Amino acid sequence: MDSVDAVELRRVRLPLVRPFAAAHGTVTEREVVLVRVGDGWGECGALPEPTYTSEYVDGAWEVLRRDLVPRFLDGAALSEVRGHRMAKAALEMAVLDDRLRAEGRSLASWLRATRDRVPAGIALGFGEPVPDEPYHRVKLKIGPGRDVDVVRAAADCGVPLAVDANGSYGREDVERLLGLDDFGLLFVEQPFPADDLVSHAALASRSTTPVCLDESVTSAASAESALAAGACRVVNVKPARVGGLREAVRVIETVVARSGQVWVGGMLETGLGRAANVALAARPDVAMVGDLSPSSRWWSVDLTAPIEMDADGMLPVPAGPGLGVDVLPDVLARFTTSVEVVKRT
Ligand code: MG
Repeated sequence: MDSVDAVELRRVRLPLVRPFAAAHGTVTEREVVLVRVGDGWGECGALPEPTYTSEYVDGAWEVLRRDLVPRFLDGAALSEVRGHRMAKAALEMAVLDDRLRAEGRSLASWLRATRDRVPAGIALGFGEPVPDEPYHRVKLKIGPGRDVDVVRAAADCGVPLAVDANGSYGREDVERLLGLDDFGLLFVEQPFPADDLVSHAALASRSTTPVCLDESVTSAASAESALAAGACRVVNVKPARVGGLREAVRVIETVVARSGQVWVGGMLETGLGRAANVALAARPDVAMVGDLSPSSRWWSVDLTAPIEMDADGMLPVPAGPGLGVDVLPDVLARFTTSVEVVKRT
């Protein structure tokens, strides 16, 4: 590969087809940080506010332009920078996309994916009805006081159900959460805060519903710790959350080696990040249905050709070189809010 002398950072602000329930209020558009390296594109999963993890759009932009891209251009290790996994994942994605495009190789092939389509799943917000569409799994948002009743209301929908609490329960709620065992759920995701493996282990030891971790797993090492502690049997793998696709593969291999199961989630990504997530989910060791929805669930206009669900509720795995999807220049131009080119000094 030719040496890279400059990296382009770009912010885009895209309209959502439906309001997204952020932790504090709802949002009707999604601002995204993009990274361009040669012909490759990367997408940063960070949300506008630090409400899911500590990363957020302004912070990711700053750490990319000031710390990560200069190190990359100098050939230094990105691991010198602590944390900021979503920003690192975006840079990794762009470099990988550029390299694979030059080689004429698909990301799916690089990831050792074996399927050409993957089942779609949907994560619903509070009060959102189960859609009459062929999803293979429905995940319901729950929280204290809005749990057993929420599940009971959806129990007859005919689609396998799971629940996600985003860490909203406390240790004292273990007994309450055992009430979920009546419903044969696929898993209960992240009932307790990210750093509380002990409560997760306490629930997992008594519950028949498998415990799944999301926010707690930021690396293969933390996945190993969680499994060793008996805190989960299932892991939601989001490449953005764990620092990129390479680490996501390490997480998957770590969990499967300990007889756990994995599925792939997302960060409300455009077609770029969605393409990468779908390719990852097409690996043979990703055994469970993920949160991967078609582009049209969120975007009225996507940055790439939309990734849509077929009549069987399946999403196609992009097969072209690199990410296998191309940024639409007119959409990019219309929705870009700022651009900065970081050059090697
Ligand atoms: Mg989650």
